[in-house]
Amino acid sequence: MHYKLTEEIINLSVSHYWESAKFEWNFEYAYQSEKPQTCLCGHFPIINICIIKNTKNQNDAEVGNCCVNKFLGIDDGNKIFLSINKIKNDFSKSISEEVVEYLKKKRIINETEYKFYLDIFRKRNLSYKQLEFKKKINQKFIDFTSSETNSHLNRINMVLKWAEENTWFDISFVNSLKENCSKKGKLSEKQSDALESIITKLKIK
Ligand SMILES: [Zn+2]
Repeated sequence: MHYKLTEEIINLSVSHYWESAKFEWNFEYAYQSEKPQTCLCGHFPIINICIIKNTKNQNDAEVGNCCVNKFLGIDDGNKIFLSINKIKNDFSKSISEEVVEYLKKKRIINETEYKFYLDIFRKRNLSYKQLEFKKKINQKFIDFTSSETNSHLNRINMVLKWAEENTWFDISFVNSLKENCSKKGKLSEKQSDALESIITKLKIK
């Protein structure tokens, strides 16, 4: 299993040697899949998945969180999955401070939401309104780390990549979808339909 993973990662890297290739990779995004998937190493089933990005050639790869940990020494996913599992069945619980920082960096939460969340870590009791606001932010986090949002982001990036070579295509709408995906943590059904119709009509692959 180990060899399959290193081979796949080396193929996507600039260096041909594992010892240097592994340092080309950074954590990008994590999501929890509803459907069990197969890791790059061949391991099945996995549901905690990380997207890692190569800093030298911009390639990305989807790898099981345990492999990212074990072989690449990237542990960012752990904190995210811990928080997902903690609040999944009870939105009144809190995500960790590191995850709050992550959501801010990804522009999923704005300055107000960020400050609010850091502030409530010190509070023992929340008012009804505060609790509702917290749950709303938790929901954004769960949406952002869903396989649905991962697939939407993949589709958006595919169109943007295609548009690099088809410069006549106006990317402002697709960029606005991406922006929206960030703000709300997901696309609405209407937006996702619009995205799919662009992909179908222009035969983007
Ligand atoms: Zn694996």
